[in-house]
Amino acid sequence: MNPAGASIAAILEKSPLDPLETRILLTHALKLSRVQLITKSEYTLATEEAQHLSALFQRRINGEPIAYIVGEREFYGLSFHVTPDVLIPRPETELLVELADERLPKNGSLLDMGTGSGAIAVAIAHMRADAAITALDVSNAALNIARRNAARHGMQITFLQSDWYGTLTDRKFDVIVANPPYIVESDVHLSQGDLRFEPIDALTDHADGLSALRAIIAGAPHHLVPGGWLLMEHGYDQAPEVRNLLAAQGFCKVRSWQDLAGIERATGGMTPLQAAVMHAGERNIPVL
Ligand code: GLN
Repeated sequence: MNPAGASIAAILEKSPLDPLETRILLTHALKLSRVQLITKSEYTLATEEAQHLSALFQRRINGEPIAYIVGEREFYGLSFHVTPDVLIPRPETELLVELADERLPKNGSLLDMGTGSGAIAVAIAHMRADAAITALDVSNAALNIARRNAARHGMQITFLQSDWYGTLTDRKFDVIVANPPYIVESDVHLSQGDLRFEPIDALTDHADGLSALRAIIAGAPHHLVPGGWLLMEHGYDQAPEVRNLLAAQGFCKVRSWQDLAGIERATGGMTPLQAAVMHAGERNIPVL
């Protein structure tokens, strides 16, 4: 379609994209609110506006995710800047924010591992002004986006460039959250739809999908206080395996939680308040 000389109403009617996506691209291109799209529906696009809109439509037709085209995605009621350097925040990940909030003690400390856009860390910081929040990522490009999102919402978060626990030495936290790369390398979805445009290292561990989760679980006892919680998002079929890994590492209260689609999407456990937690590689020898 050629939006030159067309009204907003006509574009909405004839768009090759779905109505919601058309409205998002229209509001973005014309810098209008959703309400203004209705009140100004007879507005006729100028040539430059029409060209801009056509280019945006074409990018979407070529498969690029809407969030990258407009550079924004909402998560937990907050708007986040996103680029192809970071995963697009998903609604199911809001579950981790709620689980962490419920378990974070007053004035507690929280670590977000593989923060990406910073969505999880910023959403928790926004709710919990009392919390001391640290967020790490191995990607400096991602950290730049995360810092920008924290600043945008006025949140004080300590950002670290770190390959999982690499630079943390002996620091301990009340809660650790992670939404790591967990898609199996051979999963066909990686070469379909929006995922094709997202950072591959944020989606897959290039292995069986569990290697990042294993590394996070193995290192967590050393970085959690007694009674501290580790909470992770994972793939739709990984909950039993993640529960086993947590139990084998000595975590208690191990359980999974369903997302809004009824899929077990997050799993967590608590470090024991008394007995020592096993460290990676140690055997389950009873403590006398
Ligand atoms: N939930 C994402 C998806 O299925 C994957 C995110 C991740 O690997 N952490 O597309």
